[in-house]
Amino acid sequence: MSIKKNYKHFPLKQYGQNFLINKKIIKDIIKAIDPKIKQTLVEIGPGLAALTKPMSQLLEELIVIEVDRNLLNALKKHSFYSKLTVFCQDALNFNYINLFYQKNQPIRIFGNLPYNISTSLIIFLFKQIRVIQDMNFMLQKEVAERLIAFPGNKSYGRLSIISQYYCNIKIILRVLPEDFRPIPKVHSVFINLTPHVNPAPYFVYDINILSRITKIAFQNRRKILRHSLKTLFSEKKLIELDINPKSRAENISVLQYCRLSNYLYEQYKNY
Ligand code: SAM
Repeated sequence: MSIKKNYKHFPLKQYGQNFLINKKIIKDIIKAIDPKIKQTLVEIGPGLAALTKPMSQLLEELIVIEVDRNLLNALKKHSFYSKLTVFCQDALNFNYINLFYQKNQPIRIFGNLPYNISTSLIIFLFKQIRVIQDMNFMLQKEVAERLIAFPGNKSYGRLSIISQYYCNIKIILRVLPEDFRPIPKVHSVFINLTPHVNPAPYFVYDINILSRITKIAFQNRRKILRHSLKTLFSEKKLIELDINPKSRAENISVLQYCRLSNYLYEQYKNY
Protein backbone atom coordinates (compact mmCIF):
# COMPACT_ATOMS: atom_id res chain seq x y z
CA MET A 1 0.00 0.00 0.00
CA SER A 2 1.35 3.46 -0.80
CA ILE A 3 2.40 5.73 2.02
CA LYS A 4 0.08 8.45 0.78
CA LYS A 5 -2.98 6.20 1.15
CA ASN A 6 -1.78 4.78 4.43
CA TYR A 7 -1.05 8.01 6.19
CA LYS A 8 -2.96 11.24 6.28
CA HIS A 9 -0.56 14.09 6.69
CA PHE A 10 -1.52 17.73 6.60
CA PRO A 11 1.30 19.38 4.58
CA LEU A 12 3.12 22.13 6.44
CA LYS A 13 3.90 25.20 4.37
CA GLN A 14 6.66 26.32 6.73
CA TYR A 15 8.59 23.14 5.87
CA GLY A 16 7.96 23.44 2.12
CA GLN A 17 6.02 20.18 2.07
CA ASN A 18 5.10 19.61 -1.57
CA PHE A 19 5.25 15.87 -2.01
CA LEU A 20 6.27 14.28 -5.28
CA ILE A 21 3.52 12.07 -6.70
CA ASN A 22 4.52 11.42 -10.33
CA LYS A 23 5.85 7.84 -10.45
CA LYS A 24 7.65 8.36 -13.74
CA ILE A 25 9.54 11.38 -12.35
CA ILE A 26 10.41 9.41 -9.20
CA LYS A 27 11.77 6.56 -11.34
CA ASP A 28 13.77 8.96 -13.52
CA ILE A 29 15.27 10.63 -10.45
CA ILE A 30 16.43 7.33 -8.94
CA LYS A 31 17.85 6.29 -12.29
CA ALA A 32 19.71 9.59 -12.67
CA ILE A 33 21.21 9.34 -9.18
CA ASP A 34 22.22 5.73 -9.95
CA PRO A 35 23.09 4.68 -6.37
CA LYS A 36 25.52 1.84 -5.67
CA ILE A 37 24.65 -0.50 -2.79
CA LYS A 38 27.49 0.48 -0.43
CA GLN A 39 27.59 4.20 -1.14
CA THR A 40 26.77 6.71 1.59
CA LEU A 41 23.60 8.45 0.48
CA VAL A 42 21.90 11.14 2.52
CA GLU A 43 18.37 12.25 1.74
CA ILE A 44 17.28 15.68 2.90
CA GLY A 45 13.58 15.75 3.75
CA PRO A 46 12.24 12.22 3.06
CA GLY A 47 8.67 13.44 3.69
CA LEU A 48 6.23 10.68 2.76
CA ALA A 49 9.08 8.61 1.26
CA ALA A 50 8.40 9.13 -2.46
CA LEU A 51 12.16 8.87 -3.08
CA THR A 52 13.15 7.18 0.20
CA LYS A 53 11.35 3.92 -0.48
CA PRO A 54 12.77 3.16 -3.96
CA MET A 55 16.20 4.49 -2.97
CA SER A 56 16.44 2.43 0.23
CA GLN A 57 15.68 -0.71 -1.77
CA LEU A 58 18.90 -0.20 -3.71
CA LEU A 59 21.14 0.43 -0.70
CA GLU A 60 22.43 -1.28 2.43
CA GLU A 61 21.71 1.87 4.38
CA LEU A 62 20.08 5.22 3.64
CA ILE A 63 20.62 8.20 5.92
CA VAL A 64 17.68 10.59 6.14
CA ILE A 65 17.46 14.04 7.71
CA GLU A 66 13.93 15.28 8.38
CA VAL A 67 12.86 18.19 10.52
CA ASP A 68 9.22 17.10 10.91
CA ARG A 69 9.01 14.39 13.58
CA ASN A 70 5.46 13.40 12.59
CA LEU A 71 6.64 12.43 9.13
CA LEU A 72 9.44 10.31 10.57
CA ASN A 73 7.00 8.55 12.90
CA ALA A 74 4.83 7.70 9.89
CA LEU A 75 7.78 6.01 8.20
CA LYS A 76 8.29 3.62 11.11
CA LYS A 77 5.50 1.29 9.97
CA HIS A 78 7.20 0.44 6.71
CA SER A 79 9.53 -2.47 6.07
CA PHE A 80 12.15 -0.26 4.41
CA TYR A 81 12.45 1.68 7.71
CA SER A 82 15.02 -0.89 8.88
CA LYS A 83 17.35 0.36 6.12
CA LEU A 84 17.13 3.95 7.36
CA THR A 85 19.40 5.84 9.72
CA VAL A 86 17.24 8.69 10.84
CA PHE A 87 18.18 12.17 12.01
CA CYS A 88 15.32 14.30 13.18
CA GLN A 89 16.89 17.70 12.73
CA ASP A 90 17.39 20.70 10.51
CA ALA A 91 19.57 19.77 7.50
CA LEU A 92 21.18 23.19 7.89
CA ASN A 93 22.77 22.10 11.18
CA PHE A 94 23.85 18.66 10.15
CA ASN A 95 27.58 17.85 10.28
CA TYR A 96 28.31 16.15 6.95
CA ILE A 97 32.05 16.12 7.70
CA ASN A 98 31.55 13.92 10.79
CA LEU A 99 29.47 11.55 8.72
CA PHE A 100 32.25 11.35 6.14
CA TYR A 101 34.71 10.34 8.86
CA GLN A 102 32.31 7.73 10.23
CA LYS A 103 31.66 6.19 6.81
CA ASN A 104 35.13 6.70 5.47
CA GLN A 105 33.87 7.58 2.03
CA PRO A 106 32.50 10.65 0.22
CA ILE A 107 28.84 11.42 0.67
CA ARG A 108 26.12 11.65 -1.95
CA ILE A 109 23.34 14.04 -0.94
CA PHE A 110 19.93 14.23 -2.60
CA GLY A 111 16.45 15.49 -2.00
CA ASN A 112 13.37 17.24 -3.18
CA LEU A 113 14.35 20.30 -1.21
CA PRO A 114 12.03 22.54 0.75
CA TYR A 115 12.29 25.59 -1.46
CA ASN A 116 12.53 28.06 1.41
CA ILE A 117 15.92 26.67 2.51
CA SER A 118 17.37 25.47 -0.80
CA THR A 119 19.76 28.36 -1.47
CA SER A 120 21.09 28.55 2.11
CA LEU A 121 21.45 24.78 2.17
CA ILE A 122 23.45 24.67 -1.06
CA ILE A 123 25.78 27.41 0.23
CA PHE A 124 26.11 25.57 3.56
CA LEU A 125 27.01 22.37 1.67
CA PHE A 126 29.63 24.16 -0.41
CA LYS A 127 31.49 24.83 2.84
CA GLN A 128 31.71 21.04 3.33
CA ILE A 129 32.33 20.25 -0.32
CA ARG A 130 35.53 18.27 0.31
CA VAL A 131 33.48 15.37 1.74
CA ILE A 132 30.77 15.42 -0.93
CA GLN A 133 30.79 13.20 -4.02
CA ASP A 134 27.74 14.81 -5.58
CA MET A 135 24.40 16.49 -4.87
CA ASN A 136 21.12 15.81 -6.67
CA PHE A 137 18.38 18.26 -5.85
CA MET A 138 14.90 19.25 -6.90
CA LEU A 139 14.84 23.03 -6.90
CA GLN A 140 12.52 25.81 -7.82
CA LYS A 141 13.15 26.53 -11.52
CA GLU A 142 14.34 30.09 -10.86
CA VAL A 143 16.97 28.90 -8.36
CA ALA A 144 18.25 26.26 -10.81
CA GLU A 145 18.47 28.95 -13.49
CA ARG A 146 20.56 31.10 -11.18
CA LEU A 147 22.93 28.20 -10.51
CA ILE A 148 23.63 27.50 -14.17
CA ALA A 149 23.50 31.05 -15.58
CA PHE A 150 26.36 32.46 -17.64
CA PRO A 151 27.56 36.08 -17.84
CA GLY A 152 25.09 38.31 -19.62
CA ASN A 153 22.09 36.24 -18.53
CA LYS A 154 19.56 37.98 -16.28
CA SER A 155 19.84 35.15 -13.73
CA TYR A 156 23.65 35.42 -13.52
CA GLY A 157 24.77 36.55 -10.09
CA ARG A 158 26.68 35.64 -6.94
CA LEU A 159 24.99 32.24 -6.64
CA SER A 160 26.01 31.33 -10.22
CA ILE A 161 29.63 32.33 -9.58
CA ILE A 162 30.03 30.55 -6.25
CA SER A 163 28.20 27.43 -7.48
CA GLN A 164 30.15 27.18 -10.72
CA TYR A 165 33.36 27.79 -8.81
CA TYR A 166 32.69 24.64 -6.77
CA CYS A 167 30.71 22.40 -9.09
CA ASN A 168 29.85 21.24 -12.53
CA ILE A 169 26.07 21.65 -12.75
CA LYS A 170 23.71 19.72 -15.00
CA ILE A 171 19.96 19.91 -15.47
CA ILE A 172 18.51 16.40 -15.30
CA LEU A 173 14.73 16.91 -15.43
CA ARG A 174 12.14 19.63 -15.69
CA VAL A 175 9.21 18.98 -13.38
CA LEU A 176 5.70 20.44 -13.48
CA PRO A 177 3.74 21.81 -10.51
CA GLU A 178 1.13 19.05 -11.08
CA ASP A 179 3.75 16.43 -10.22
CA PHE A 180 3.48 17.45 -6.54
CA ARG A 181 0.78 17.55 -3.87
CA PRO A 182 -0.13 20.11 -2.81
CA ILE A 183 0.53 21.75 -6.19
CA PRO A 184 3.18 24.47 -5.76
CA LYS A 185 2.96 27.83 -7.51
CA VAL A 186 6.35 27.31 -9.17
CA HIS A 187 7.91 24.99 -11.73
CA SER A 188 10.80 22.78 -10.65
CA VAL A 189 14.04 21.46 -12.03
CA PHE A 190 16.03 18.44 -10.85
CA ILE A 191 19.77 19.08 -11.06
CA ASN A 192 23.08 17.39 -10.40
CA LEU A 193 25.97 19.28 -8.81
CA THR A 194 29.28 17.46 -8.99
CA PRO A 195 32.33 19.07 -7.36
CA HIS A 196 35.13 19.77 -9.82
CA VAL A 197 37.99 17.35 -9.75
CA ASN A 198 41.61 18.35 -10.15
CA PRO A 199 42.62 20.19 -12.19
CA ALA A 200 39.62 22.34 -11.31
CA PRO A 201 38.71 25.03 -13.85
CA TYR A 202 38.86 27.74 -11.19
CA PHE A 203 41.15 28.48 -8.29
CA VAL A 204 41.12 31.10 -5.57
CA TYR A 205 43.44 31.34 -2.58
CA ASP A 206 40.61 32.57 -0.39
CA ILE A 207 36.94 31.93 -1.11
CA ASN A 208 35.94 34.71 1.31
CA ILE A 209 37.61 37.28 -0.95
CA LEU A 210 35.71 35.94 -3.96
CA SER A 211 32.50 36.11 -1.96
CA ARG A 212 33.23 39.70 -0.87
CA ILE A 213 34.10 40.97 -4.35
CA THR A 214 30.98 39.46 -5.90
CA LYS A 215 28.89 40.91 -3.09
CA ILE A 216 30.21 44.41 -3.74
CA ALA A 217 29.99 44.04 -7.54
CA PHE A 218 26.40 42.78 -7.50
CA GLN A 219 25.13 45.26 -4.92
CA ASN A 220 24.36 47.33 -7.97
CA ARG A 221 24.59 45.00 -10.95
CA ARG A 222 23.97 47.72 -13.52
CA LYS A 223 26.80 49.95 -12.28
CA ILE A 224 30.05 49.78 -14.26
CA LEU A 225 32.91 48.09 -12.41
CA ARG A 226 35.11 51.17 -12.46
CA HIS A 227 32.53 52.65 -10.06
CA SER A 228 31.25 49.63 -8.13
CA LEU A 229 34.73 48.24 -7.37
CA LYS A 230 36.53 51.56 -7.01
CA THR A 231 37.39 50.97 -3.35
CA LEU A 232 39.22 47.76 -4.31
CA PHE A 233 40.68 48.32 -7.78
CA SER A 234 41.85 51.36 -9.72
CA GLU A 235 40.76 51.61 -13.35
CA LYS A 236 44.38 50.96 -14.36
CA LYS A 237 44.51 47.78 -12.28
CA LEU A 238 41.28 46.49 -13.81
CA ILE A 239 42.77 46.97 -17.27
CA GLU A 240 45.99 45.23 -16.20
CA LEU A 241 43.89 42.31 -14.99
CA ASP A 242 42.24 42.19 -18.43
CA ILE A 243 38.88 43.42 -17.17
CA ASN A 244 37.07 46.16 -18.99
CA PRO A 245 36.39 48.87 -16.34
CA LYS A 246 33.24 49.82 -18.23
CA SER A 247 31.73 46.35 -18.01
CA ARG A 248 29.12 45.48 -15.37
CA ALA A 249 29.07 42.82 -12.66
CA GLU A 250 26.79 40.65 -14.77
CA ASN A 251 29.31 40.55 -17.66
CA ILE A 252 32.32 39.27 -15.72
CA SER A 253 33.08 35.55 -15.93
CA VAL A 254 33.85 33.26 -13.00
CA LEU A 255 37.46 33.11 -14.18
CA GLN A 256 37.72 36.91 -14.15
CA TYR A 257 36.22 37.12 -10.65
CA CYS A 258 38.81 34.54 -9.53
CA ARG A 259 41.55 36.69 -11.07
CA LEU A 260 40.31 39.74 -9.16
CA SER A 261 40.19 37.72 -5.92
CA ASN A 262 43.68 36.36 -6.30
CA TYR A 263 45.09 39.79 -7.04
CA LEU A 264 43.59 41.11 -3.78
CA TYR A 265 44.86 38.07 -1.89
CA GLU A 266 48.41 38.69 -3.16
CA GLN A 267 48.13 42.37 -2.24
CA TYR A 268 47.00 41.81 1.32
CA LYS A 269 48.39 38.42 2.33
CA ASN A 270 51.13 39.95 4.46
CA TYR A 271 48.87 42.40 6.28
N1 SAM B 1 11.07 13.88 -0.32
C1 SAM B 1 9.65 14.08 -0.23
C2 SAM B 1 9.04 14.06 -1.62
O1 SAM B 1 9.82 14.15 -2.58
O2 SAM B 1 7.84 13.95 -1.73
C3 SAM B 1 9.32 15.40 0.49
C4 SAM B 1 9.84 16.64 -0.16
S1 SAM B 1 9.21 18.14 0.55
C5 SAM B 1 9.42 19.23 -0.81
C6 SAM B 1 10.50 18.71 1.62
C7 SAM B 1 10.76 17.86 2.85
O3 SAM B 1 11.84 18.45 3.60
C8 SAM B 1 9.60 17.76 3.80
O4 SAM B 1 9.46 16.44 4.25
C9 SAM B 1 9.97 18.69 4.96
O5 SAM B 1 9.37 18.35 6.18
C10 SAM B 1 11.48 18.53 4.99
N2 SAM B 1 12.20 19.69 5.55
C11 SAM B 1 11.80 20.99 5.53
N3 SAM B 1 12.75 21.77 6.10
C12 SAM B 1 13.74 20.94 6.48
C13 SAM B 1 14.98 21.14 7.12
N4 SAM B 1 15.38 22.37 7.48
N5 SAM B 1 15.78 20.08 7.38
C14 SAM B 1 15.37 18.82 7.02
N6 SAM B 1 14.20 18.57 6.40
C15 SAM B 1 13.40 19.61 6.13
